[in-house]
Amino acid sequence: MDGILNNDIKFLSGVGGQRAELLGKELGIRTLGDLLYYFPFRYIDRTRIYRIAEIRDDSLSYIQLKARITGFSHVGTGRKARFSAFVSDGSGTAELVWFQGIKWIEKRLEVGREYIIFGRPAFFRNELSLVHPEVELLSTAAARMQTGVQGVYYTTEKLSTAQLGTKGIYKLVCNLWQAVEKHIRETLPETVLREHDLMPLRDALYNIHFPANQQLLRRAEFRLKFEELLGIQLGILSRRTDRVGRNDGFLFSRVGERFNEFYSSRLPFPLTGAQKRVIREIRNDTVTGHQMNRLLQGDVGSGKTLVALMCMLLAVDNGFQACMMAPTEILARQHYATLTRMLGDMEVRVGILTGSAKSRERRLTLEALEAGEIDLLVGTHALIEDRVRFSNLGLVVIDEQHRFGVEQRARLWTKNERPPHVLVMTATPIPRTLAMTLYGDLDVSVIDELPPGRKPVKTQHYYDSHRLNVWAFMKREIAKGRQVYVVYPLIKESEKMDYKDLYDGYESITRDFPLPEYLTVAVHGKMSPEDKEATMQLFKQGTAHIMVATSVIEVGVDVPNATVMVIESAERFGLSQLHQLRGRVGRGGEQSYCILMSGEKLSREARARLDAMCETNDGFRLAELDLKLRGSGDINGTQQSGLAFELKIANLGKDGQIIEMARRTAQRILDADPGLTQPQNRGLDELKKRYSPSHEIDFSMIS
Ligand code: ADP
Ligand code: MG
Repeated sequence: MDGILNNDIKFLSGVGGQRAELLGKELGIRTLGDLLYYFPFRYIDRTRIYRIAEIRDDSLSYIQLKARITGFSHVGTGRKARFSAFVSDGSGTAELVWFQGIKWIEKRLEVGREYIIFGRPAFFRNELSLVHPEVELLSTAAARMQTGVQGVYYTTEKLSTAQLGTKGIYKLVCNLWQAVEKHIRETLPETVLREHDLMPLRDALYNIHFPANQQLLRRAEFRLKFEELLGIQLGILSRRTDRVGRNDGFLFSRVGERFNEFYSSRLPFPLTGAQKRVIREIRNDTVTGHQMNRLLQGDVGSGKTLVALMCMLLAVDNGFQACMMAPTEILARQHYATLTRMLGDMEVRVGILTGSAKSRERRLTLEALEAGEIDLLVGTHALIEDRVRFSNLGLVVIDEQHRFGVEQRARLWTKNERPPHVLVMTATPIPRTLAMTLYGDLDVSVIDELPPGRKPVKTQHYYDSHRLNVWAFMKREIAKGRQVYVVYPLIKESEKMDYKDLYDGYESITRDFPLPEYLTVAVHGKMSPEDKEATMQLFKQGTAHIMVATSVIEVGVDVPNATVMVIESAERFGLSQLHQLRGRVGRGGEQSYCILMSGEKLSREARARLDAMCETNDGFRLAELDLKLRGSGDINGTQQSGLAFELKIANLGKDGQIIEMARRTAQRILDADPGLTQPQNRGLDELKKRYSPSHEIDFSMIS
């Protein structure tokens, strides 16, 4: 896309400086091309004409009628004026109502003539009425393009006041089309168009804005989705090819004494088959000479930490340092404690670095690290600060990857001249389509087996009104010697309110679970790290019976004796978060429970989420469902998904088949022409660049 499409939007007729600025700020539309690719977010079918008798309720958002005016009425004056036109189409009657612009509309309507009427249906005293509908003489309406399927553009309040409501944008797009129509060049090679029976780009862009009917609209959508996903896949796959082609990965060729000693005499329990397989996969990666980029997925409790430790030992055995980055201070400390405990007196030097380290302590750690006197460094994102220098970093393990931004991840591997191997571990199962898109550059390992003896967690949903039953249940479990988590949602925008929920909750729990019989502790993000740690310890040691917490702090707490997870306002959590939280219990041999509390009023989606949680423990099924429920908005949002660009039309949740098609096609094209230099692939090279923005830092971007 070049030439005229890169022109500033302000030069388009109907725009100008002020509106251009608004379009840029509100919608990110800065060039003609941006507007051309600003697609309607839904469509109204104006080919369909309803009969008045068919309309029984206000469930349709828009209807179109063909009816004759039978009379008028005026009620009130001035600001209270109301003008009605009564219409009939033979099947029934309806009332059209105006509160404003009455003089103007009155002049345009005539009793006895037939009109096309378009608007939102409402019922008033059992009579169908349309307030401020569009009304047009049948004879003129028929001739207009708008009787087709009409696009509705997303817009904002600010734009609407600058005459850029959905209709205003539509008009701009009409102007745009005249200006650019002749400049649209096909991006896809003829062979690809033919193979998948795709609409040419020009026709697709026309029909996405001005579809003549549903069928053409669907073909246009399909073509544009395919193009977008193909662009993404071309970017991902060629980056992958680059990485594999570079051959500068560290070699972990020896399986040395530390790994062997740990394996033969320190393992607290036999590895599961899945753990063994994953360690083998990682080991194979590190002897190829290519840099490893592996995503390790394993449901909560599947034993990823142990896998990470063994891989880090491999690095150490080969003379390298390794580091492990956790998303929170508590988790980092917990990992540090786990690793040092498991290693015992083995000759491995483990260090920890977090944001709260005292300056002297930190200086010593940094010096030791640079001198190569630390083998394994555990930490939070403090690890990515510039002053942290390794002497010989060979492996980076990132735990609970979804908490780290892409940028944060990228900074870790710029710590070396040669890229270390990277293992990203996540407990959030990533559906195939997402994995192919977001992590398409990574190899994926899956731990699909839980350690033996685990009993599946039982999940139940209770309304707030049944709280007493839940508390009675908690008391029974505590009487058996077990411990309980109570978690409150924490959503950034309303932090104050959330903390209030937490404090109120804490208070009412301490009232009903009084000392000295019960000890309840609370942990939240505003506490100092020392306080947090001390409080956590009370719970870990079993001194505290109940831990009240917000959701964000604790992704990986490991307290096998905790058997009950109560999630307050569960309807406010996403599915994957609920599943994560549930994974905090069920870690020991005892039967564990997850209790979802909610108000009585639930949206359909929230109910579906809670039902799904009660029905299954399978993280993958929940992730797939989550993707479907959340649809495009959330998933495609850069924040949620880690995508550095926004999808304009494809939906990662729903377009799985097109993603697979695009991936196969991209692979085949790159196999034949890796640099996309052949003339028929010129458009593809542009596409690839469009979907590989420079700010997307990838694992392989190190040089
Ligand atoms: P996650 O994958 O969620 O990070 P962890 O690594 O924290 O899981 O492991 C969860 C629990 O399972 C820990 O208490 C750990 O010691 C235990 N565990 C790990 N591997 C095994 C195994 N092979 N057999 C039995 N228990 C295991
Ligand atoms: Mg973990």
